[in-house]
Amino acid sequence: MRYVSTRGSAPELGFADVLLAGLASDGGLYVPETWPTLPPLAELRGRPYPEVAVEVMWPFVAGSDGDGLDRASFEEIVAGAYATFDTPEVCPVRPLGDVTGPRGAVPLHLLELDRGPTLAFKDVALQLVGRLFDRVLGARDGRICVLGATSGDTGSAAMHACAGRERVDIFILFPDGRTSEVQRRQMTTLGAANAHAIAVPGTFDDCQDLVKAAFADAGFRDEVRLSAVNSINWARVMAQIVYYVTAHLSVAPDGGPVSFVVPTGNFGNILAGWAAKAMGLPVERLVVASNRNDILTRFLSTGTMAVSEVVPTTSPSMDIQVSSNLERLLFERLDRDGAALADLMARFRADGTVSVPAPVLAALRDEFDAARLDDESAAAVIRSVLGRTGAVVDPHTAVGIGVAEELVGDGVLSDPSVPVVCLATAHPAKFPDAVEAAVGFRPELPGHLEDLFDRPEQVEHVPADLGAVEALVRAELRR
Ligand SMILES: *Cc1c(COP(=O)(O)O)cnc(C)c1O
Repeated sequence: MRYVSTRGSAPELGFADVLLAGLASDGGLYVPETWPTLPPLAELRGRPYPEVAVEVMWPFVAGSDGDGLDRASFEEIVAGAYATFDTPEVCPVRPLGDVTGPRGAVPLHLLELDRGPTLAFKDVALQLVGRLFDRVLGARDGRICVLGATSGDTGSAAMHACAGRERVDIFILFPDGRTSEVQRRQMTTLGAANAHAIAVPGTFDDCQDLVKAAFADAGFRDEVRLSAVNSINWARVMAQIVYYVTAHLSVAPDGGPVSFVVPTGNFGNILAGWAAKAMGLPVERLVVASNRNDILTRFLSTGTMAVSEVVPTTSPSMDIQVSSNLERLLFERLDRDGAALADLMARFRADGTVSVPAPVLAALRDEFDAARLDDESAAAVIRSVLGRTGAVVDPHTAVGIGVAEELVGDGVLSDPSVPVVCLATAHPAKFPDAVEAAVGFRPELPGHLEDLFDRPEQVEHVPADLGAVEALVRAELRR
């Protein structure tokens, strides 16, 4: 498989180069040159998650033997990645009950993506990506130094994915005192010599600015071989395609259409659902669920993308204004015209707003719906799901379920023969304050994290100063 940049002027690359590059050199995102076709669903049904995962992902990886990724190695890496989850089903599906709409009762299901080491869906992709890095760098006799900033979820998932890897060192900056205690402890209790949690006085944006400044310092970047694991990395999207397929297998045994509702921030998760559809999965609707930061919901209703202030909500991993992975979808809907897309993105960057032509908007609305939910409604959903099913869901997941219920009522998702799958993107114990405010008690951590609050913490402190960050990385990096 070869990959092309959405902005049309970066070189075509193979899988291993795309994995290591992240962003393309023209500022675009890499996408596969063509979309492969899924194997017949009947051939996948009943097989363990890691086997389905290899079947779905292999066409994207094929051709990378020289980088240590022959099929047998890939199978072994996939099996290792998903053995870290707390259930052999990896991403299980459970019923959420029926919701009554204008045409009858529509079955809702919950796809649990929170069963990995750090309790958020990002583990599904990052557990694989960490292992792929080690394999490819081993074959090339290289090393990388991952530097990132986090407001909570991405940093902990990336640190767990890279901890103990031979050829990767990871440094994650987080705003001191501004993450939840669970998120902080997931970063500070790893006990791995190559994984560094770094507390910075200030906000997430201060951390992000330091990371950007470090990447802009070309001398430093080359010296330590700086790399990123952000959600624009193609391998992360690829890994997420798999659970749309396995969820479909489990809720539609007859192979009929299914709709998905996805709590959305950067558009990485739902883009993987679109990719599954492009590969032939029978998907009826893809629904973007936003919190009050609803740039995507406004975009899909008006065709105009316009940034506004980020407001803090109880679903902080969706408190984003610019959804970078949308670029991959727009590229497809502009008929893969990289120059047209580059022009669109340049106008958006310059003006903070841009509109797409009417036929492009119509094509997007042909496949996607969107709706938003505020914090109070999300809290009400947490209460009602608990009352109806006995399950506690996290605030991000609640946004999705609330949107699904609304769209069933509105007639958008109202076909009783089309099951609706809501994606559970985090475990409730990751956001105990919001859950407690909704239901009056704090959710328990799962067994493998029971002693999280007793584990010793290791955290380094640096001032919000580029020189200090660079000095720390230089001092701690394994060479
Ligand atoms: C990252 C994250 C999201 C948003 O996912 P995107 O791929 O950025 O759209 C939603 N919920 C949780 C819990 C997350 O950690």
